[in-house]
Amino acid sequence: MFGTVNHSLVLVVATAVVVAVSACTDLDGFDERSNVGPDQLAFDDGSGSAGSTTTTAGPEPSNTTTVPPPIPLGSPDEPFVDLPDAAAARAVITPTGVVLPVLGEQADSFTVLTACENIRYVNRSAVEPIGRAHVVLDPGHGGTEVGAVGPAGTVEKEVNLAVATEAAARLEQLGATVVLTRSTDHNVTTGTRGLLAKSIDPALFVSVHHNGGAPRSNDGPGTIVFTKDDSGESTRFGGLFHDRLGAALESVTERERKAHAAYITALDAHQAAVAEYDRSVQARDAALVANGQLPADATTIPAPPPQAADGFRYPSERNPSPTTTSPPPPPPTDPDGSPGTNPDGSPLPTPTTVAVPDTLPVPPPFDSIPVREFLFAGGPNGGVRSWVRADGKDYLSVLRHSGDVPGVLTEFLYVTNPSEEQLLMDPAFVSAEAEALAGAIVDYFSSTTNTGGGFVDDQFDDQPIGGGGLPSQCVEPDLGV
Ligand SMILES: [Zn+2]
Repeated sequence: MFGTVNHSLVLVVATAVVVAVSACTDLDGFDERSNVGPDQLAFDDGSGSAGSTTTTAGPEPSNTTTVPPPIPLGSPDEPFVDLPDAAAARAVITPTGVVLPVLGEQADSFTVLTACENIRYVNRSAVEPIGRAHVVLDPGHGGTEVGAVGPAGTVEKEVNLAVATEAAARLEQLGATVVLTRSTDHNVTTGTRGLLAKSIDPALFVSVHHNGGAPRSNDGPGTIVFTKDDSGESTRFGGLFHDRLGAALESVTERERKAHAAYITALDAHQAAVAEYDRSVQARDAALVANGQLPADATTIPAPPPQAADGFRYPSERNPSPTTTSPPPPPPTDPDGSPGTNPDGSPLPTPTTVAVPDTLPVPPPFDSIPVREFLFAGGPNGGVRSWVRADGKDYLSVLRHSGDVPGVLTEFLYVTNPSEEQLLMDPAFVSAEAEALAGAIVDYFSSTTNTGGGFVDDQFDDQPIGGGGLPSQCVEPDLGV
């Protein structure tokens, strides 16, 4: 996961980052502000870095303009090839697992940007440097920012982390070097996330999210893949990912719809059996009345209709035992016991007895677990698209601050949609999402000519999504240094 350490090669990161952080005065389009001001960026005094581990003066601003070569893409046989300029320390991981971008380095320390966009010096001996990587994955939200929450309590930040962590493991098995912007549950601003990606300078950056809100039901997945504007590579990955996730969802949707259909079939069969039972009870009661064994005005007592947990009302069930029985009246006879005759001497009609069944087959109770109809949620804005501000820059902070790194922010599914939340509560489905993400990344690195699909050209016209990720809302994680 981490590149080889070579402390002597880190010269250019500070300069590159100064430019990026200067833009943090408008990180997210949500009137946010960075904790990092111009003075701090000049490394005058390191203020704003509470708990700094060293008061050593900062590095001399470097004028080095060396630009590391881009990471070459591979082939289907070998998607992840050797990383150029892999040794430079571009980020550090602290003893508590927090990954921070390196702004500069000194003889015995690194200057880092913290999770909440403060500048801090950390001793080299206290942290592990991270070099270049093929991929940076960004599990959205974390810590006090939970993201979207589903009706059954599913929390977006946890699903995001699970998907990104598993996708990273799958990619590493295939030879990729992957860095996660967070691997535990803590806050990170969108500015630090984007800057971390820019510092690592991977070939691909993917921010993993699941959507919220109360969208209407949709014919298909409402997945949105926000690509960087004017970035062909971002768009190419967006299309590949859209197709991979779509294929995964197709099979899952088919499974869910079959399960629902089987449940409805079983429910229909049960209702038919109960209706048949009702008819049998009525026929038996009519026979008892005809035989004089039951008064004509006797009724059976219907049982109260039970109601299933999912809201289905089961048919009424009748009491299977007749409430009243009477001995059959004796057949008419003459006083001498012989069959009677009519006044004209003709024999009385032979009394008949209607057959009454001894037992009625009571249908078994309906105990199938309810399976709701599977419904996707979405809006008119699903698909692969960019989202651009009036000034022409990407709307989403995390993309804007990752510089020229090809990248996307994916809203996989709606956590707030009960059907989709049920999927997300299933670890097997979370694995399917991770597999789709890893598969699309492999496609991307394999130099495939397939561009994928799902592209949407029209203007994104949804309401601004949620804010969050701001320095003012950020709680610094314990760095353990
Ligand atoms: Zn999110």
